[in-house]
Amino acid sequence: GYRKGGYHAVRIGDHFGNGRYVVQKKLGWGQFSTVWLAYDTQFQRFVGLKIQKSAAEFSQSAMNEIEFLSAISKSDPSASGTKSDNCVIQLLDHFKHVGPNGQHICIVMEVLGDSLLRLIRYRNYKGIGLNQVKEICRSILTGLDYLHTDIGVIHTDLKLENLLLVSTINPANDPIRSGFAPILQRPNNDENQNKITSSITNLVERKLMLRARRAKASLAAAANGTSPSMEEEARSLEGIDLRCKIADFGNACWANRRLMDEIQTREYRAPEVILASGYSFSADMWSFACIAFELATGHTLFAPKPGQGYSEDEDHLALMIELLGRIPKKIAVGGARSKDLFDRHGDLKRIRRLKNWPIDRMLIEKYKFSTSDAQDLSEFLRPLLNFSPEKRPTAAQTLQNDWLQNSTRDKDANLKK
Ligand code: ADP
Ligand code: MG
Repeated sequence: GYRKGGYHAVRIGDHFGNGRYVVQKKLGWGQFSTVWLAYDTQFQRFVGLKIQKSAAEFSQSAMNEIEFLSAISKSDPSASGTKSDNCVIQLLDHFKHVGPNGQHICIVMEVLGDSLLRLIRYRNYKGIGLNQVKEICRSILTGLDYLHTDIGVIHTDLKLENLLLVSTINPANDPIRSGFAPILQRPNNDENQNKITSSITNLVERKLMLRARRAKASLAAAANGTSPSMEEEARSLEGIDLRCKIADFGNACWANRRLMDEIQTREYRAPEVILASGYSFSADMWSFACIAFELATGHTLFAPKPGQGYSEDEDHLALMIELLGRIPKKIAVGGARSKDLFDRHGDLKRIRRLKNWPIDRMLIEKYKFSTSDAQDLSEFLRPLLNFSPEKRPTAAQTLQNDWLQNSTRDKDANLKK
């Protein structure tokens, strides 16, 4: 919390960076930081200001983030400049701020919109339409291809919170026309503060919400009081182009200089990381597959829990085996941690009876996908979830996948034919 080594307490109207940046509202927070919308008085634009907790380990992660954001930023004069700008968050500035809790590293970035987690929450964890899943997948893959191929960086913490939507109307680009007057000093009463902060709410989210509300109202009226179905509501969100950028490089690493054995957030963790058999770019591809599934269904692909007589890692591996089939023996017994987890035949030591519930069947039975949608999505995901990391397709190869090229026809379009 807000104590020594912790978050820096920030109030609307506070100035940072020798007075250059004025805090407007809170955008979000993570394990290590709080993130604020700020006004850059030097260039008259809105920016995202990430203020890191002050303790040494958090500063280390912020330094790491600055190193990687600098390496990937579009100021790099190579031809990949636009690629970076299109799909990876852009660094603008950084500095140190000394507050009562210690020294905080501050990172100034372009302002982005809601995280994909908020998008999924907004949809009540029901998943977004497959065409929008494809749009987002294309953004993420373009970003990953850039990071992996052009820069040589493994992100290592891909998850919904770290993927941020690009606002269609970005106040950062044109504060005057978008009608957001910046706050330049600390407002003197709280009521006033609330008013100002709520006028700069996230635009993508607002657009989605307004659309859905309008569609809901008109559908309800047409159907004489009955509320619209989930499908109708989902349709009301279609037609909004969704694009996202990869953010949060606090845990990123150079592929040829890996420092940590354990990477990734639990649900998105690749089997080779659990087994400690070494990882590379393909660990990000595993997380990517988990994300694509989650966008389509609203639920995490794997939700491991420790149980009686087995650990979270063991449950996680069991869930993988149930979904994807047996782990090839060579892989199961090949990691530094294999001896704890597997017997010499390559079977889990402490979880013996496993079901078999492949992705396509799960999509049909649990998430009510049509057979063809389930098969298509499952065919897209399966190769990315290969237990052999080197057999997983790369981001560039996945971008070429047919499933991403063609839009899924909705059921009505099929009926009309
Ligand atoms: P941490 O390293 O603490 O996890 P992140 O960089 O992931 O920090 O940022 C935390 C949250 O703040 C994100 O999930 C997102 O909601 C929000 N956020 C971060 N950067 C921006 C930005 N540039 N524009 C808008 N929101 C942001
Ligand atoms: Mg984060």
